[in-house]
Amino acid sequence: VCTISPKAIVSDACASYSTLDGLNRDLRPSLQDITQKTDFFSYYRLNLFGKECPFWDDSNGMCGNIACAVSTLDDEADIPAIWRAEELGKLEGPKAGHPGKKQQEERGPEKPLQGMLGEDVGESCVVDYDDECDERDYCVPEDESATAKGDYVSLVDNPERFTGYAGESAKQVWDAIYRENCFSKTSFPKSASLGASHYGDLGPAANELKSVLDERRKHQALEESQNMWEVTQTGLEPEDECLEKRVFYRIISGMHTSISTHICWEYLNQTSGEWGPNFQCYKDRLHKYPDRVSNLYFNYALVLRAVTKLGPYLRDYTFCSGDPLQDRITKAKVQSLTSYAGAVPQIFDESLMFVNGEGPSLKEDFRNRFRNVSRIMDCVGCDKCRLWGKLQTAGYGAAMKVLFEYENNAVEVPMLKRTELVALFNTLARISDSLNAIHEFRLMVEATETEE
Ligand code: FAD
Repeated sequence: VCTISPKAIVSDACASYSTLDGLNRDLRPSLQDITQKTDFFSYYRLNLFGKECPFWDDSNGMCGNIACAVSTLDDEADIPAIWRAEELGKLEGPKAGHPGKKQQEERGPEKPLQGMLGEDVGESCVVDYDDECDERDYCVPEDESATAKGDYVSLVDNPERFTGYAGESAKQVWDAIYRENCFSKTSFPKSASLGASHYGDLGPAANELKSVLDERRKHQALEESQNMWEVTQTGLEPEDECLEKRVFYRIISGMHTSISTHICWEYLNQTSGEWGPNFQCYKDRLHKYPDRVSNLYFNYALVLRAVTKLGPYLRDYTFCSGDPLQDRITKAKVQSLTSYAGAVPQIFDESLMFVNGEGPSLKEDFRNRFRNVSRIMDCVGCDKCRLWGKLQTAGYGAAMKVLFEYENNAVEVPMLKRTELVALFNTLARISDSLNAIHEFRLMVEATETEE
């Protein structure tokens, strides 16, 4: 396998589809095992219903289909004891306080975590308190503390698949996501690019200025969205963009491809009532667009690289589910996956990012734009789609944090929250399933071509 530089198109010339397919064939069973058979990775806590769309009124965009619904775990008895509110409350005591940023810096890499957290508390048993962004975060984190608004969801019981969510609401969300890709010199202020007020209380003159600026911004947004619309219509990524902008585009397009693949692979035949692959859906949405598929493979390389890079740090991690035996088994499964993948030559080269040309100056913008993508997920009008949309943006966000915020071979340990780890591994598992589905669909294409 040769390295995929962020700029490369995954093609048969370099890290070929078949090479990545081969790697995926080896890794997929253990990824499925981790994400579907361990408590740690199969439950996700998130604020699915409590956040309003921060950018527009989405009250008419709600999907009423039963397939859009998510069953949350309302009965605490259904979740591992360690995560119940009462237990979380205990963990939030002084003994188990999460080290603050300053303490983490002072601690340095070699000091054991236990001393910081109390004798018997592994770090991952400690609750992360806030949903405020750390400056290294690429998305708005999910808060898992006892007081936070949020629900536990079994990811196994709520699979990502066809829901019937479509039309104006879905289109508006995708448009807004692609609009974040439009880096420009006159970009919107950070973390509020889509109309949220960022002026505070202003005097009359300033208010007048604000309305002029708002008007100008609306024009820009429209122009940008039209440009982007052409780009997405033709399925092409912006040609003359610098590396970092291309990577941004590829990540969201690859995520979109993965979502479409799951829709086509687990489609509801509304006549028979059965779930199964929809070949026509694949032909219409994916087969015709090799660049979209290429972006999916690109994401596979990127997220797998992040998981591999994280592997050595996870050796000291307690996968806390309240059952020490299960925790050890989970750790063994994770170690086996990351060490296998780690033995493969590096398949994505993150060291090329944010180093040349305008790259270094783009990093903050890149991060803020991806955070906005994660906020846009609160505008998705279908609960199931919102669940997986939020999880996957959190997963890509965690991958980028690991890749772009920590030097290779850095002694510093990436501090990921439990929700980030769960999102990261499940996002990889989703892409892995998509690669498998695309491979199967390709075989169907070959079979029909042979028949003809
Ligand atoms: P869409 O998929 O809506 O695409 C809109 C336009 O974007 C296309 O016309 C095309 O020009 C462009 N485009 C499409 N794919 C790509 C790509 N890979 N790269 C670049 N440009 C592209 N529906 C479900 O049934 N189940 C789900 O789990 C689900 N999850 C969703 C999650 C999110 C975050 C969102 C926004 C929507 C989700 N949907 C889901 C809806 C689904 O994604 C589609 O919007 C819907 O099926 C309508 O599809 P469409 O063919 O109109 O094109």
